Amino acid sequence: MIEIRIHGRGGQGGVTLAKLIAAAEHREGRSVQAFGIYAAERSGAPVQAFLRADEEPIHNPNQIYEPDHLIVLDPTLISPVILSGLKPGGWILLNCETTPEHYAGQERVNSFRIATIDATSIAVKHGLGSRTVPIVNTALAGAAARLLGMNLESVVAAFEDFGFHGGNQLAAREAWDEVRVQKDPPKPGEFKKQEISHARGHAFIGGNEGAPPAIHTGQWANQQPAWENATPPCNFICPAGNDVQGFLAALTEEDVDGALEILLQTSPLPSVCGRVCPGFCMMQCNRSELEGPVNVRGLERYAGDHGEVQVTAAAGRPEQVAVIGAGPAGLSGAYHLARLGYGVTIYEAGSELGGLMRTGIPEYRLPRAALDRDIERITRLGVKTVFNRRIDHRALEELTHEYDAVMAATGLQRLTSIDLGLDLGTDQGRVLQGIEFLDKARCSAVEVTGEDVVVVGGGNTAIDAARSALRLGANEVRIIYRRTRDEMPAIPEEVDDAIDEGIQIDFLCSPVRITREGEKRQLSCQRMELGEPDESGRRRPVVIPGAEFEIPCDRVILAVGQAADLSLLPEGAELSEDHPVEETVDAPVYGAGDLLTNEGTVTAAIGCGRDMALMLHERFSGEKRYADPPDEATVVRADQVRFQHFEMQHRHDEKVLPFERRSGSFDEVRQGLEGVDEARRCLSCGVCNSCDRCVTYCPDGVLKRVGKEIVFDYDYCKGCGVCVSECSRAVIYMKTA
Ligand SMILES: Cc1cc2nc3c(=O)[nH]c(=O)nc-3n(C[C@H](O)[C@H](O)[C@H](O)COP(=O)(O)OP(=O)(O)OC[C@H]3O[C@@H](n4cnc5c(N)ncnc54)[C@H](O)[C@@H]3O)c2cc1C
Repeated sequence: MIEIRIHGRGGQGGVTLAKLIAAAEHREGRSVQAFGIYAAERSGAPVQAFLRADEEPIHNPNQIYEPDHLIVLDPTLISPVILSGLKPGGWILLNCETTPEHYAGQERVNSFRIATIDATSIAVKHGLGSRTVPIVNTALAGAAARLLGMNLESVVAAFEDFGFHGGNQLAAREAWDEVRVQKDPPKPGEFKKQEISHARGHAFIGGNEGAPPAIHTGQWANQQPAWENATPPCNFICPAGNDVQGFLAALTEEDVDGALEILLQTSPLPSVCGRVCPGFCMMQCNRSELEGPVNVRGLERYAGDHGEVQVTAAAGRPEQVAVIGAGPAGLSGAYHLARLGYGVTIYEAGSELGGLMRTGIPEYRLPRAALDRDIERITRLGVKTVFNRRIDHRALEELTHEYDAVMAATGLQRLTSIDLGLDLGTDQGRVLQGIEFLDKARCSAVEVTGEDVVVVGGGNTAIDAARSALRLGANEVRIIYRRTRDEMPAIPEEVDDAIDEGIQIDFLCSPVRITREGEKRQLSCQRMELGEPDESGRRRPVVIPGAEFEIPCDRVILAVGQAADLSLLPEGAELSEDHPVEETVDAPVYGAGDLLTNEGTVTAAIGCGRDMALMLHERFSGEKRYADPPDEATVVRADQVRFQHFEMQHRHDEKVLPFERRSGSFDEVRQGLEGVDEARRCLSCGVCNSCDRCVTYCPDGVLKRVGKEIVFDYDYCKGCGVCVSECSRAVIYMKTA
């Protein structure tokens, strides 16, 4: 943007000069703004006019306090105060008879470039006004056009818009030819910001001198605004600690690599989380008050799948760390430790990396290619792997001799069962654990074609087992769950999909026993109702006496939960999120993931793995990398967002695999977003996104953007609060003055 301030006297046409140059700029395709302020409305009184021109739309309606250039129509106005705010290197175009050198030697102007034009003589010569009140604006327009590198023909043509012909055009052309430019102007390296004191106390409306008002109106305020980014609810809730608002902001700029880089600061598994995270951020998204939450999950997936970022490790540290378990917690811990320069070796009981992301979550939700791409980023950091090595408490003890620290991230290895009166081991695999079934399903090691399958449970394992059975060709799949839909721990969208795919869910229904009838099995169930809440806060299911019924089936899959197997740890040791196990072992043992917290999500496991890695790093280096979670009071909630400033926008949903293509196939159901337009729906709650409504609407013009921040001129802020009510996202607030 170019900003010009014009100083003249009433009757000389200063405001029209601003409009003439604006019209010429507009002809060249730029946005423009031109207006004047007047003191006493009489001929000869000082007048200022302002001109802005920009390639972008202009929203700032305030006076110009820091112009790029000055035009002075009347030599009698030349005084130090009119230089107020002029940017170093700016032009001062003076209407006077003398040469620029007459002024150039003076210290107060030695950071500016000076040009002079005898516009008065030119105006009189061409019959514009009188010698007493000459109309010098068109001559100065010609001179200014030359200095600013404008096309003279555009300027002269713009006169037509105002009905100016003949003498005006001749005056402009003559001034273009005659303008005198300082012979030896200062070089950019010699520019210095001039400290020019504003004239104070002259007048109530002091703008005539080019300075802000003379009276410090800020003294009247008992409250004044302040600017500070707050906490977006999505960032606050994300268990992985992702800067959700930050990566969405990068995507609004189409900066996919930048978005991925932000995500990789906290989580090494964006392609995974972009597919399987329950979307805590979306549940808290303030945009839900309009057309629905931003599809953050889909955008994370997009960044993970399409971004290219080379992650690097810091210079090697001497300490070596053993990580037990290659699920999301262990992988996240290994990733962050490797990036901090530690030598890391992962010990994994299975033969591949990924934990339940590989052995539990089916391919139709998380294709192996996506998982492998994320994992490769971790192994490329030099993390070593030892497969098919199940660590027991004796082996763990050995690791503490060998390594400087151990991180145990073994997940939930104890499967919960229920006694249904049939030996699970001997019933020819007809009664299976959900996790076991899913692992066999992915290796094509189970055959359910044509079978009637009943799945017991209400979590992700139950839903995945049921949907996998359907894909493997089961005849009928039914889930029985002892509570209602509202209490189901499975991800709601997955439950919807299961129902849409044709799976029947019997709520308030609990299994009692399985009996064999030839090749068939009979599952006896009892009806339940909800009683008082239990320790988890969910209402306890209570048996309705005498309401038993039978479900004939070929196979029963039990998905009723898993628990931590703590036999790995030294006897009597207890894991804590605040400190490692240290007693009776040679090196500290940190827990991570479901083993430690039992939170049951990939995202939480990632966050926990990182937290533990940073805790471990602090112990070895003394450096605190762990940022304390923000105070909940700083979270911007929906009632603080100015929804009236936002337009409704349509949501961008992901394409999904048609139902007819799901049976018999493990092809991915959700197929991702086609681009990043969805990111533009982010309200950027609590984080300034430079919309500059505050600057635009401040009635006193006391707000200014400086880089990414807004600064206030408290001397002149009366504390009206307009900026606070115009701030769409609760970044500006009032505080005691
Ligand atoms: C079927 C299913 C579907 C799910 N769906 C989702 C979902 O959509 N979204 C979501 O967020 N969460 C989901 N979850 C939960 C999520 O997968 C887990 O919360 C998460 O994987 C826990 O991570 P972890 O690293 O703590 O443990 P795990 O992923 O269980 O990894 C533990 C690793 O340690 C290894 N290990 C165990 N014991 C030893 C030992 N003694 N020595 C060496 N290695 C050992 C295991 O082989 C495994 O690789 C699902 C879980 C299941 C079962």
